[in-house]
Amino acid sequence: MPALMGQMMQMPLLISSLVRHAARHSADTEIVSKRVEGDMHRTTWAEVELRSRKLAQALARLGCEAGDRVATLAWNGYRHLEIYYGASGSQLVCHTINPRLFPEQIVWIANDAADKVLCFELNFLPLIEKIAPQLGSVKHFVLMAGRSHMPANSPIPNLLCYEELVEAENGDYAWPEFDENTASSICYTSGTTGNPKGAVYSHRSSVLHAYAAALPDAMDCAASDVVLPVVPMFHVNAWGLPYACALVGCKVVMPGPHLDGKSLYELFENEKVSFSAGVPTVWLGLLTYVKSNNLKFSTFKRTVIGGSACPPAMMKTLQEDFGVEVIHAWGMTELSPLGTLSKLKAKHAELPQDARQRLLEKQGRVIYGIDMAIIDDDGKSLPWDGSSSGNLVVRGPWVIDRYFGKTDESPLVSVDGVGGWFPTGDVATIDADGFMQITDRSKDVIKSGGEWISSIDLENIAMAHPAVHEAAAIAARHPKWDERPLLVVVKKPNAEVTRDELLQFFEGRIAKWQIPDDVVFVSEIPHTATGKIQKLKLRDQFKDHRLPTI
Ligand code: AMP
Repeated sequence: MPALMGQMMQMPLLISSLVRHAARHSADTEIVSKRVEGDMHRTTWAEVELRSRKLAQALARLGCEAGDRVATLAWNGYRHLEIYYGASGSQLVCHTINPRLFPEQIVWIANDAADKVLCFELNFLPLIEKIAPQLGSVKHFVLMAGRSHMPANSPIPNLLCYEELVEAENGDYAWPEFDENTASSICYTSGTTGNPKGAVYSHRSSVLHAYAAALPDAMDCAASDVVLPVVPMFHVNAWGLPYACALVGCKVVMPGPHLDGKSLYELFENEKVSFSAGVPTVWLGLLTYVKSNNLKFSTFKRTVIGGSACPPAMMKTLQEDFGVEVIHAWGMTELSPLGTLSKLKAKHAELPQDARQRLLEKQGRVIYGIDMAIIDDDGKSLPWDGSSSGNLVVRGPWVIDRYFGKTDESPLVSVDGVGGWFPTGDVATIDADGFMQITDRSKDVIKSGGEWISSIDLENIAMAHPAVHEAAAIAARHPKWDERPLLVVVKKPNAEVTRDELLQFFEGRIAKWQIPDDVVFVSEIPHTATGKIQKLKLRDQFKDHRLPTI
C-alpha cells in the first residue's frame, strides 16, 4: 500500500517570506544604522521590505536574471540588508565579499563567482576604481550612496547610484515563488587550504537556519530584543542574524564600519541594545573602553561569542562585572554558520558554580538540525566521554555538501562506513551530555581576530626569498587577536637574511595584517613519512613562543 501522504500546504521556504513577515507584523520596528558617511540613519522593517522590492525591480531592469550573482563590499547597514532581501528574494544570489581581503583575493573571488553586479560602499570607491578593470564579469558597479556622494569623475564605467536605482522604482512588485532549494547567497571561506572556496546557501537552508538560530538554546531572539550584530554581514551572513531578526521582528542596530569601543558603547546605550554577537577580538576593544571609563551597560543582557575560542577571562568579566550572559558558539562558513552553542540543561542547576562555568566555556551542544560525531583517522567514531579527542564531522540541512564550482569533488567523509559527513578540520571532544569542546585544529590555517590567514600563502611568499630553504607558518597564541602567524624558517646553506628583512619581503605581497608577527630560524623543520610538514609538532614546539608586542 502506498504511504499516506501529508495533506499540508506546499509552501517553499523562501527568504522573501522573512522580510514580508517582518514588514507585516513589525512594520514600525526600527532598523538603525550608523553609516559609512558618519551619520545615523533610521528606517523600519516596512520600509526595508518596500525598498528591497524596489531594488529587485531595479536589478531586473539592469538585466539580472535568475541565478545571477549580486556581490557586496559593504558593512552592516540597512542598504546591505536591502540587498540581502532584494537580490535573494528575486531569485538572484547575494554574494557578500570580505573587504578585509587583499585586493588580489577580492578580484579572484569576484571572478570565481562570476559576479554580475557589484554594490559597494563609499569607502571602497578607491579600491574598486583600482580593481574594476580586472572584474571581467561585472556588468554594473553600484555605489551604495545617495546622489550627493557620487564622484564627479570616476574611471569606473557607468558607475550607478544605489539611491537613484531604488528611488526610480515604484515597488509594485510581488516576491516570486520558486523552488526553496534555489541558491540564495554565496560566502567564500579562506579557512581551507588553497584558494578560497564558496559555500552556496539555499533559501531552504537559510530559513531553517534562521528558525534554529532564534531558538532559546541558540541565540534566543525575540521581538522584545534590540539586536546589534557586530559580526559583519560579510562573515557568513552575520551568523544568520539579518534573517533571524526578521523572523522574530525585532529592532536591529547596525554599526557600519564603526567597531571601536567608544562607537559601539554609544550605540549600545543610545539604542538600548539587549543582545549582540561577535568574535572575541571586538569585545576586547569594547571592554577596554568601558572599563577604562568606568562605565556600565544599562540594557545589554546577553551576547553570542564565537568564530574563535572565547577566552574564559572575557566570559567571566562580561558575566560578573557587567551582568552580560555569554553564549559561547561554534560554527563555520560551511554550516551557515551555527553548529553548537553552550547553554546548560536543567540538571546543571545543581552543579557548583565552577563546574557550570567549565561547561559554558566549551563550544556547546548542537542545535536541532545539526548532527555531529568525532572520528579517528580511519573514520571510526569515538566515544562521547569528554576526553576522547577526534576529528569533528557534521551533517544537516544547513551544512554544505560541496563547494561552489566543484561539483566533481566531494569534501564529505564516512563515519563508521556511512558517508555524508562534512569534515570540519577541527579536533574536539564531546561529553556524555553532548557538550563539544574544540581542542585543536587539523586544517592548516591561522585565525587572527576572526579572519583567516592562509599558512600556504605565507609559506609561498617566504619560499620565494632567495635565502629561504624551507618555511612553515603556524599559529602562535596572541592575547588580542587569539592567533597570529609565526614563520619558522630554515635558511639556505651560507645564505644570510634577518628577521626584519624577511618580514619586509612580505610587504606588498599580502595584506598588511596577514604579515607574520615574528620569524624564528631553525636548523630543521619536522616532516611526516610522506614529506609533509608536521604542523602539530611545530605548533607544540612553539606553543610558548612569545610574539613581540606591537
Ligand atoms: P569560519 O568559516 O571563518 O566561520 O571559521 C570556522 C572555524 O573557526 C571553525 O572551523 C573553527 O576552527 C573556528 N571556530 C569557530 N568558532 C570557534 C569557537 N567558538 N572556538 C574555537 N574555534 C572556533
